[in-house]
Amino acid sequence: MSFLKKIFGGSGASDSSDANALWLYVRCGKCGAPVAIRVDTRNDISVDYETGGRYLRKEIMDSTCFQLMYAEVRFDGNGKIVEQSIERGTFLTRQEYETALEAFQAKRQS
Ligand SMILES: [Zn+2]
Repeated sequence: MSFLKKIFGGSGASDSSDANALWLYVRCGKCGAPVAIRVDTRNDISVDYETGGRYLRKEIMDSTCFQLMYAEVRFDGNGKIVEQSIERGTFLTRQEYETALEAFQAKRQS
């Protein structure tokens, strides 16, 4: 479980009862909508036997324009993110996501 705790320590997950969740925050490269994605660390993260690290490949669908984004995140053996890439979008921090979400919703309502 130390692998999971290290991930959550850095990402600021708020719900400690959801111990198998890792949240990714991205912005759609097409319409600019911020998207939060829950990753199930038990099912979604795979072991990379070549490096001893772990990796995640995730298809993310934006709920605004329904574009599919493809995220890939690599972790080292300690669960630290060492590399992340995404097609058709950009990664956000949790704080950037919350700021972007407010701005996006304000724009849609006006
Ligand atoms: Zn979009």
